[in-house]
Amino acid sequence: MSSMTFAPRASAGVVRGSSRPSASRQTPTARLAAFNGVVSDRVSCIHGNVMFQAPALKGLRAAARPALRASRNATRQVTRAEDKLNVADLGKSDLEGKRVLVRADLNVPLDKDQNITDDTRIRAAIPTLKYLVENGAKILLTSHLGRPKNGPEDKFRLTPVVPRLSELLGTKVEKVDDCIGPEVEAAVGKLQNGQVLVLENVRFYKEETANDVEFAKKLAANADVFVNDAFGTAHRAHASTEGVTRYLRPSAAGLLLKKELDYLDGAISNPKRPFVAIVGGSKVSSKIDVIKTLLEKADKVIIVGGMVFTFDKARGYGVGSSLVEDDKVDLAKELLQSAGDKIILPTDVIIADKFAEDAKTDTVQTGDVPDGWMGLDIGPDSVKLIQDTLADAQTVLWNGPAGVFEMEAFSKGTFAIAQTLADITKKGAITIVGGGDSVAAVEQANLGDQISHISTGGGASLELIEGKTLPGVAALDNQKVHA
Ligand code: ATP
Repeated sequence: MSSMTFAPRASAGVVRGSSRPSASRQTPTARLAAFNGVVSDRVSCIHGNVMFQAPALKGLRAAARPALRASRNATRQVTRAEDKLNVADLGKSDLEGKRVLVRADLNVPLDKDQNITDDTRIRAAIPTLKYLVENGAKILLTSHLGRPKNGPEDKFRLTPVVPRLSELLGTKVEKVDDCIGPEVEAAVGKLQNGQVLVLENVRFYKEETANDVEFAKKLAANADVFVNDAFGTAHRAHASTEGVTRYLRPSAAGLLLKKELDYLDGAISNPKRPFVAIVGGSKVSSKIDVIKTLLEKADKVIIVGGMVFTFDKARGYGVGSSLVEDDKVDLAKELLQSAGDKIILPTDVIIADKFAEDAKTDTVQTGDVPDGWMGLDIGPDSVKLIQDTLADAQTVLWNGPAGVFEMEAFSKGTFAIAQTLADITKKGAITIVGGGDSVAAVEQANLGDQISHISTGGGASLELIEGKTLPGVAALDNQKVHA
């Protein structure tokens, strides 16, 4: 973690101003239905040091254990953005005429006619691509899209992103229907300096997520240099995020990746204080590690959303039929005891007689939720309490909505938080929003350009906040290695 005073560098790109990325989202009802028993996969992701996963290193282990241990420790410590080689550290002499494999996150939502419903991720990839174009690189652009099961599926092809990329880059972008092999080799052979070639969905090969060594070699075979700009998948040790770094030198961070690390790592490592975190969303279980980390780092942690009711139950309050994780009540009790007044919980709640837009609603004090009713948003007193708490905050990190904001009747708390963040940003506070739903709420309120940083990676941003090493970052060259 950074030991420097946090001061985000100049914005590396625009990651804002889109409509809600809703196409692939669950409905609120589905989320509620999924609530019992299904635990988010975001908190059980791969982390830790990736060097020991490299088969090439396995044989060396016995003979060179001490050296490996030392290098593993070094890698663990060197995951800060400022320690990693950045694409902007590479000049024309490093890039001109070089074949640069760029891992971006072009996983955009598509409607049934293959129209892009939110191009945020494509726009976020542009600054790095432009930089490489301007410096005369030959760019091989790789990404995943959706969750193909076993081999190519037309609905998961990257073809729809090509016209939008061409438009945003102001140059014709080509595409091949594979990401490895002779077709790619032939197309790369024809690339001129400054041209971009999109490779087909890398997850059409199951070897990608398995981080298969031979597959990584094939991906790397058509390139000289690697740039990882896919923050959204940086918490996964996949062939295109981690595997290829063994075969391409230099391997550098892209501008978006760096910006994400600067903000998220910076915010939690050495924030401008007071530092207030707002954690919301449905379940305590999916955010518990984040809450614990933030209780150590932040001056105040405001808890909102469905998870409030597990804390309320822990306080012995009536919660009616609100969302409660019974197996987390004891944990909530412990957190409340150890955190003291650092945790701020809502003081009133909007209740509903059913989980539906047309439900009967009322506002009650926390603890007064009657049987048969459920809390679906924070009330006006709680909004005021949050606004007062944020009034002098210098850094605010927000992850997870305050209520079921997908339904208008229960969206006021979430939008009030979004507006408050926009207001304090104007006064100089650093505001950071991560997590798919809170980002969607900010975008829906058209406040995207009034927040300091909107993270493009839900799972990755949570893991970074939790203090975990992101394999896709750890594997990149350290600056001193390149120098
Ligand atoms: P994502 O998982 O997309 O990254 P996130 O991290 O912002 O989003 P989640 O933890 O997934 O947030 O929770 C968001 C969901 O929580 C929303 O669908 C919202 O409707 C739901 N939610 C918020 N408050 C409540 C509540 N009081 N009762 C039930 N569900 C709630």
